[in-house]
Amino acid sequence: MKITIIGTGYVGLVSGAVFADWGHNVMCLDIDKDKVDKINKGIMPIYEEGLEELVKKVSSEGRFKATTDYKSSIEHGELIFICVGTPSNQAGAANLNYVFSAAESIGKYMPNDEYKVVITKSTVPVGTHNKVREHVRIGAGNKKINFDVASNPEFLREGTSIYDANNTDRVVIGSDSEKALDILEDLYKHLDAPIVKTDLASAELIKYAANSFLATKISFINEISQICERTGADVKSVALGMGLDKRIGSRFLNAGIGYGGSCFPKDVEALYRTSSEYFYDFRLLRGVMDANERQKDYFVDKVFRKYGTNLSELTFGVLGAAFKNGTDDTRKSVAISVIRTLRGAGARIKLFDPAALENAKKELGQDNVKYSDNAEDVFKKADALFILTEWPEFANLEYPELVKDMNKKVIFDGRNLLDPIEMKDLGVEYYGVGRKDDADDTHENGVK
Ligand code: NAD
Repeated sequence: MKITIIGTGYVGLVSGAVFADWGHNVMCLDIDKDKVDKINKGIMPIYEEGLEELVKKVSSEGRFKATTDYKSSIEHGELIFICVGTPSNQAGAANLNYVFSAAESIGKYMPNDEYKVVITKSTVPVGTHNKVREHVRIGAGNKKINFDVASNPEFLREGTSIYDANNTDRVVIGSDSEKALDILEDLYKHLDAPIVKTDLASAELIKYAANSFLATKISFINEISQICERTGADVKSVALGMGLDKRIGSRFLNAGIGYGGSCFPKDVEALYRTSSEYFYDFRLLRGVMDANERQKDYFVDKVFRKYGTNLSELTFGVLGAAFKNGTDDTRKSVAISVIRTLRGAGARIKLFDPAALENAKKELGQDNVKYSDNAEDVFKKADALFILTEWPEFANLEYPELVKDMNKKVIFDGRNLLDPIEMKDLGVEYYGVGRKDDADDTHENGVK
């Protein structure tokens, strides 16, 4: 099939490369010329395992090309996937300007009377499909165009997105056109995954419901971690005991400093706003968002309880800037937010992340932050070490040796990667999140 992708970011570039790998002929369009030039030179604008090799392979086989040319891209695709960003607007709802602008351009360049399916892969609120249809028509003006709209929400995870695209748990496609549903089913039917064919509104809502549910799971275990801190229970044991129940499952039950990233915060908030627009007060989601904010504050409070609120005499080594492991993405990263708070209180920061340093530099600049090109370096002369992203390699560093390089052996582990007892044995004052044997024995509302 001939496929056009509009918006060549994390979702669009990976989807385009994977579709090409499945044998389709793909054009990836973006308005960012620099990004397009890089991709065509084989330089990936994002870090994603296996992406560079895949893009080089499908490009050399002649099935993949990136471009900024709307006209040729829209003429090319029988299937046109909209994969542009949908960030939060100031009110917390999804900003759909990029989606509508793409839809109008699709209409503008759509050839007369040639059937196409316009598919939204971007995460968009319920009801957006009708507006996409309208905007395509606005773009087309008086032309006679022939198209259907469909929704095909994306569930890939940054860091494992190529694997996810080939091994998804399910494919969701929504449309009011049987023809469009059949074409999309054809695209995905070789995958070993159920295909949920549904109406447009349900498909759009599935994505928000899924992300909000996962965020709820994270906030739930974070709330449990607070109870652990106040009662002397250990959140890792509690999560293990809960997660072995197959009805619950162990994933997304890691207590820490809260969820971040370009999806969960905006999607939870957008679903909350959509609910309000339909006169429903989705109180559970309000609680999920509040708990997430509070969790980060609790973590930073541990630091302030130990040192006071003036940190200007202190140097902190920090491991992790990405919003999660496996990616260079720092959008809405809790790690970045914690670093900002520590720096705001005067601390000097020495930061390492295996993939996200360039993006961290863009977010944090040079003011009181030094960037290290290896993990070991951030321990040197540090008054405390912070682990803020759950890169597995941070758990496997030579701690017995590295802590000797520190000015003070203090570790704040925001992702519970380390073992409190092992750390104690190394003479480290260790602070985790909801851990039984860490150094934090006083709390605002109770004593362990
Ligand atoms: P991104 O910011 O990485 O990429 C969006 C791209 O769209 C950018 O390269 C931008 O230049 C381009 N763009 C903007 N307007 C355009 C236009 N009019 N025409 C052509 N290109 C245009 O975003 P992303 O992370 O890939 O997310 C895209 C969508 O997918 C969002 O709705 C997001 O919620 C959803 N999503 C993201 C993920 C994820 O893990 N990143 C997972 C599932 C769903």
